[in-house]
Amino acid sequence: MAGRKPKKCAICGKKIKGDGFVLKIVCYVAFDGIEIRPEDLSKDIKKQIRDELKKIRKMSKKRLQDEVAKWWEFSLCQTCAEEYRKNPLRGARREGTMYEKGRNADLSSG
Ligand SMILES: [Zn+2]
Repeated sequence: MAGRKPKKCAICGKKIKGDGFVLKIVCYVAFDGIEIRPEDLSKDIKKQIRDELKKIRKMSKKRLQDEVAKWWEFSLCQTCAEEYRKNPLRGARREGTMYEKGRNADLSSG
């Protein structure tokens, strides 16, 4: 598109040639659905819904997003997109996980 500012890759910072790639990440609360128990049917459901809506209205948009779902969108160059696809959680792994323990054990024995 004419006049459009060239995008830079969010990982390497280089100018993206062509359209590049889009990385969208969404992290949201795992939710299995609503379990309705017999005792729930005797409660005032309308009042419960009103109370929940009041709570949600009082929460800021940012807090609501952070607690329920958070999403990001990044532009990537082809090289970084290919690398990312090979191992999307590479940068997110924590020390002490099974993955890290295995790697550390390999390094110390060598
Ligand atoms: Zn890149």
